[in-house]
Amino acid sequence: MFRTPRVPAALALLTALLTVVGAGLTGCGKEGSPPGKGPAADKLPTYQVAQRFRLPDSPTWTRARKRGYFVVGVKEDQPYLGERDPATGVYSGFDIEIARMISASLGLDPKTIRFKTIASANRETALQNGQIDYYVGTYTINANRRKLVGFAGPYYMAGQSLLVRRDENDIHGPEDLDGKRVCSAAGSTPYQRIRTDYPKAILVAYDTYSVCVDNLLTYQVDAVTTDDAILIGYAAKAPGELKVVGKPFSKEPYGIGVPRDDNALRFAMNDALEARQKNGDWKRAYEATLGLSGVPAPEPPPIDRYPAS
Ligand code: GLU
Repeated sequence: MFRTPRVPAALALLTALLTVVGAGLTGCGKEGSPPGKGPAADKLPTYQVAQRFRLPDSPTWTRARKRGYFVVGVKEDQPYLGERDPATGVYSGFDIEIARMISASLGLDPKTIRFKTIASANRETALQNGQIDYYVGTYTINANRRKLVGFAGPYYMAGQSLLVRRDENDIHGPEDLDGKRVCSAAGSTPYQRIRTDYPKAILVAYDTYSVCVDNLLTYQVDAVTTDDAILIGYAAKAPGELKVVGKPFSKEPYGIGVPRDDNALRFAMNDALEARQKNGDWKRAYEATLGLSGVPAPEPPPIDRYPAS
């Protein structure tokens, strides 16, 4: 997950990660023990695949159906949300589970999904080019993006926060960022918010948050900013090194990105999300993934069924 560890802090992180992997393998971590374990494959819910489901008004669904599987854009370096095991190529996390339950509701076996890692800055183009059928990766619904893509959901409510080194005592909130080096992902809402609302911070951008975390551990930057859900995962994996500080200072409703004009797909996904919330799949998925970071399942936010335009 983290690239090129260089200093003792990074080495300690690596040790922590190896310990976590070891605990997972030997099965000695128990419920309620310190967070750090990734989702356990045998604890993940399975989703009933809708039989005889049809959505002929959706060009995206029709294409996927012919092909036999959905191509879904995701993240690969966000613990508990969207993470790819480099050894097996298997993706796991809450966003991955959302992608799976949606595929099942739309009549395609989730086992067939092809996941594709797409960085924050490239999501809209990937949906516009037809490179992916839909996107599930900590993707905030907002008015600007809605000009370019459609959103089903929201399926989760996050908020922007700050990650710092454990020994950092000066940063408690965004107002403490003046003159500090702050890292975020290009093309993200947290990046944009620091730029406009906290212009005295020195912003550093990379494609991914895990590179920002590398930079934090190696003292290249003073803080990493993005959604609390993402930062909690990094902190949980390196509890001796990192901490999340302050209160969330934005609302980030996560949506499923779809091609802008495919309203039939968006509406069907909203129905699917609602049904999966009602039958308990949403909660089971949360508890098997993001819930491992220690935060109990919240109420999912109400779905925004905005009309076609
Ligand atoms: N939710 C924010 C966004 O959509 C930050 C996380 C991300 O970059 O995926 O920009």
